Amino acid sequence: MDLGIRGKVALVLAASKGLGRACAAALAAEGARVTIGARDKQTLAKAAQEIQLETGSYVLAVPTDVTKEEDIEAIVSATIKEFGSIDILVNNAGGPPSGLFEAVSDAQWQETFEQNLLSAVRFTRLVLPYMRERGNGRIINIVSTSVKEPIDGLLLSNSIRMAVVGLAKTLSLELAPFNITVNNVCPGRFLTDRLREGRSFQGKIEQGMSEAEVLKGIARDIPMGRIGKSEELGALVAFLASEQAGYITGTTIQIDGGLVRAVF
Ligand code: NAP
Repeated sequence: MDLGIRGKVALVLAASKGLGRACAAALAAEGARVTIGARDKQTLAKAAQEIQLETGSYVLAVPTDVTKEEDIEAIVSATIKEFGSIDILVNNAGGPPSGLFEAVSDAQWQETFEQNLLSAVRFTRLVLPYMRERGNGRIINIVSTSVKEPIDGLLLSNSIRMAVVGLAKTLSLELAPFNITVNNVCPGRFLTDRLREGRSFQGKIEQGMSEAEVLKGIARDIPMGRIGKSEELGALVAFLASEQAGYITGTTIQIDGGLVRAVF
């Protein structure tokens, strides 16, 4: 199926590794011209080079910290300068730290607000004029299954990501008349550094379990019996960015091998 993405411009954040990188690669494989941002310059440049080699599409790498307003302005400007517009925005960021209520500080609340909510607000605000001008656009936020079913010990993700869902739903209504769709994607368990570096994963390694044993344990809790592949999430995001997905807006879609038990 031709997704109708060829030649479109995509801006994908937190895209030097893991899920963001997979989204950028999937969009580039469909012929999109892609800008990727993340903080570490070298990892980002390497990712851009690899995606370009894999897909043949040009990838622009702009070092970006999504918590910094000036970086947000710089990556949007660089994309407009290079490609002339932005058709697809994938809002993604690093994950919030874990912690139970009484252990989480005001500073951590503030940092998570800036990283996982305000960043999406700021990117959307800057990109919208270009989408409105073209009468077309796709905004996709990467959140977590924590918005469907709270995850133990991940209070900040459980809380702040819900605000992203509220933002997206409200925006989807405001922007529907302009042919701009807004959707959220909720990853379950994907084998990325975020999963490996998580408290629960590391706790088990410290208890003497091997990485293979920990992964097997995680997979056991998932109805499909396996951890997700980042490419699978990339493919979902590419579809939501497609021409065919033009009537899908305001949704919050989990991709989790059946992990979330909730019906809605
Ligand atoms: P990952 O493999 O650790 O990659 C994180 C990416 O985010 C890297 O490219 C990192 O690059 C970038 N990043 C981190 N902080 C940033 C910042 N302030 N500004 C710009 N870029 C930043 O993580 P992942 O698994 O792909 O996770 C992506 C998102 O999905 C996270 O919010 C995570 O919580 C969420 N999620 C993941 C899973 C999972 O199973 N993997 C499940 C549910 C939700 P730099 O460090 O160089 O900036």
